[in-house]
Amino acid sequence: MTAPTPPRHDVDLLVIGTGLAGMAAAAMAIRRGLSVALAGAPGESLFASGLLDLLAVHPIKDRRLWDDPFAALTALAADEPDHPYAKLSRPDIEAAFAAFTAFLGEIGLDYHGHDGKNAMVLTPVGTVKHTYRVPAGMWAADHGIRRTPPALIVDFEGFKGFSSAQIAQTAGVFWPGLAHVRLPFPGGRPALYPEPMALALESQKNREELARALSPHLRGREMVGFPAVLGIYRTRETLAALTGLLGMPVFEIPTIPPAVTGLRMKAAFEEAMVRMGVATFFQKLVLGVRAESGGFACDVGWNAPEAEVRARGAILATGRFFGKGLVPHRKGVIESVFGLPVVQPASRSAWHGEHMFDPAGHGINRAGLATDSRFRPLGSDGQAAFDSLYAVGSILAGHDWTRQKCGAGLALATSYAAVEDFAGRR
Ligand SMILES: Cc1cc2nc3c(=O)[nH]c(=O)nc-3n(C[C@H](O)[C@H](O)[C@H](O)COP(=O)(O)OP(=O)(O)OC[C@H]3O[C@@H](n4cnc5c(N)ncnc54)[C@H](O)[C@@H]3O)c2cc1C
Repeated sequence: MTAPTPPRHDVDLLVIGTGLAGMAAAAMAIRRGLSVALAGAPGESLFASGLLDLLAVHPIKDRRLWDDPFAALTALAADEPDHPYAKLSRPDIEAAFAAFTAFLGEIGLDYHGHDGKNAMVLTPVGTVKHTYRVPAGMWAADHGIRRTPPALIVDFEGFKGFSSAQIAQTAGVFWPGLAHVRLPFPGGRPALYPEPMALALESQKNREELARALSPHLRGREMVGFPAVLGIYRTRETLAALTGLLGMPVFEIPTIPPAVTGLRMKAAFEEAMVRMGVATFFQKLVLGVRAESGGFACDVGWNAPEAEVRARGAILATGRFFGKGLVPHRKGVIESVFGLPVVQPASRSAWHGEHMFDPAGHGINRAGLATDSRFRPLGSDGQAAFDSLYAVGSILAGHDWTRQKCGAGLALATSYAAVEDFAGRR
């Protein structure tokens, strides 16, 4: 008996990877009227805080923090001409953020920020994080940090890794008058994991119980901070209802990963992709690619091909080591789908410097793909490896997103540029 032929999907664009860069590329391609196929596992985004950084730190060795990310980008482009941001203009970056946050708003995830200025949010250890676009649930923290009104930080009995007392103590240096309280979680359940807590707070009954328990602690307070567990699927409604019940602004503080903030984005995104007619292959990988005249033929599946995707163009958004776009080997780092050349330190011994916590980072933290000005990855001859293959997000060479605080911005802006280039060639 012969094995059945896997079903075939013909599309304009195949997006390989469903981390933030893949999500952004797919959303932007749909916006441009392209037919899209999308394959990948969640990647880093499941662990992410939901905050969209543009650029907060430069140069990393000095840990200099910037209020104005565009001034930081100008300095970065001058100092690091090989950084992917150096290929992008301010209007393109602004358009990328505008397009992606508009898309997130359409799928129920509202974002806020200042024009041309970084916002500030509280971290789970009580320090301040500079970021560019902030989920609606965390937005009131920016006002709180700037104006320092009397506020209350809440945590729940049994919830690990989040201490309102510690946050109030650490943040008390710049936000005096922060009070804290620990409450039993409403509904009589132990508050152990963020996901069931967030689901429980989507119930008005539980929110009312929480508001009653909080009421004696709110005297003289003007805002309340919670761990980021205010809903998963109905965050807009949960936030509005709790704000109404408490009669004051409410803000979320990111929790340590894995957090519901990443899950919120993944759940809303996956639902939207299916609804928008994208050929989705969630929890599947691109197992093999054949370049053909007019595009690519790709086998998609988990252990064996389950579908064939034929696409005029492809966007490689497979991330670095965590996403498995780059794979470390004895003789060096390889790119996992196309076997493209990887910019990397000359030998394994040069991957890391002598000091683990070297503020300047390590050579391996900047490994990745070099591209031309249109984000097409280069082959060994220094030319675009394929006419219609693009590389976006953290797989690119020349950045250190964890230290530069630029992870999401890089994903959005490079995806935007790649999709615009591809769409413009129709
Ligand atoms: C704990 C944590 C916290 C973060 N917090 C922030 C933050 O506060 N602000 C911010 O701006 N950024 C943050 N980020 C960073 C942001 O999430 C990353 O910049 C971003 O996830 C990088 O995205 P990426 O899509 O390039 O790669 P990844 O997220 O790694 O995604 C790679 C994708 O490629 C897929 N893939 C790999 N191989 C294949 C294949 N053969 N076929 C199909 N798919 C494949 C993977 O399954 C995955 O879907 C955080 C990240 C982490 C881990």
